[in-house]
Amino acid sequence: MELKELKCLRCGHQWWPRPPLDKPPVRCPVCQSAAWQIPRKPKGG
Ligand SMILES: [Zn+2]
Repeated sequence: MELKELKCLRCGHQWWPRPPLDKPPVRCPVCQSAAWQIPRKPKGG
C-alpha cells in the first residue's frame, strides 16, 4: 500500500494522512483551511 504525503497549498504544510484514508482531511491541521487542496487563483484575469 502506498501512502501519499499531503500538502496544503495554502500554507505549505505537509503531513501524512491518518486512517481512514477513504477521503482526504477536510481541513489543513495547521492553517485550518478547508481549501487546502485548492491552489490560490491569480487575481484578476
Ligand atoms: Zn495549511
